Amino acid sequence: MGNQRRVITLDKIVDLKEVTKIYEGKVMHRAVNRLDFEAMEGEFVAVMGPSGSGKTTLLNLISTIDLPTYGRITINNIEPESLSQNDLALFRRRNLGFVFQDINLLQMLTVEENLVLPLTLDGVPLNEMEKRVAKVSQQLGLSDILDKRSDELSGGQAQRTAIGRALIHKPKIILADEPTGNLDSKSAKDVLELLSRINATERTTIIMVTHDPIAASYCDRVLFIKDGEFFNEIYKDERRQTFFQRILNVLSLLGGHHDLSSIRLP
Ligand code: ADP
Ligand code: MG
Repeated sequence: MGNQRRVITLDKIVDLKEVTKIYEGKVMHRAVNRLDFEAMEGEFVAVMGPSGSGKTTLLNLISTIDLPTYGRITINNIEPESLSQNDLALFRRRNLGFVFQDINLLQMLTVEENLVLPLTLDGVPLNEMEKRVAKVSQQLGLSDILDKRSDELSGGQAQRTAIGRALIHKPKIILADEPTGNLDSKSAKDVLELLSRINATERTTIIMVTHDPIAASYCDRVLFIKDGEFFNEIYKDERRQTFFQRILNVLSLLGGHHDLSSIRLP
């Protein structure tokens, strides 16, 4: 891209060069097409685009769940494609945290047990586990509900627990696919403020797919894709309200969205 980088001093943590993902099937489908994308360390990026435009595929490529058909992906200076299956699993656990729209906590377990689960899988010592649980639950406002069973939680509490579980490893990057998609607007706001705070205090890079222009207005930058290709990209400005309005403008150019007129920034 021709524009001068404003963030020259920061490190590139995610780098996609001319990435194409083709799904082979009865019909071959090009879900992502010659896409260049980079994210800087500590950046909070939203990815928007109509349904079927390749947003989840893009996240799956960055998360190393899917490998590109063509092009090159570098995450935290490593090419996941060059790693063995074992190293890839380790790489994923050490570097990445995942948050999804469908919050898949283990219902039988308490909040605390869900939080520590990834650590027990990794053989982290008990006192270190306790320290991390204390920190994460304090950060996410979970301290009072640690003993609650997951099936007794509200949607917002469940998503905060899921974010806690993603954070407990201190990942460099959080990948979130519609994290507020199933939440009421109050819980959505809580989750977005939480992600912003984590991004600001821990400098965790966050890449978040969202349909919601309000959610996107919390980010530093919004990438718009269409038919698996780059469509546009905008950076935040001083006021969230103005940024929100600019996001709406691009969405209306992008199509595939309707009734934007009724959305107001609360
Ligand atoms: P989005 O998340 O933007 O809605 P996706 O990345 O899920 O879009 O999908 C992009 C396109 O790729 C869609 O047309 C979808 O049907 C197709 N697709 C996604 N995953 C697969 C798959 N595993 N096999 C075949 N086609 C797929
Ligand atoms: Mg999707």
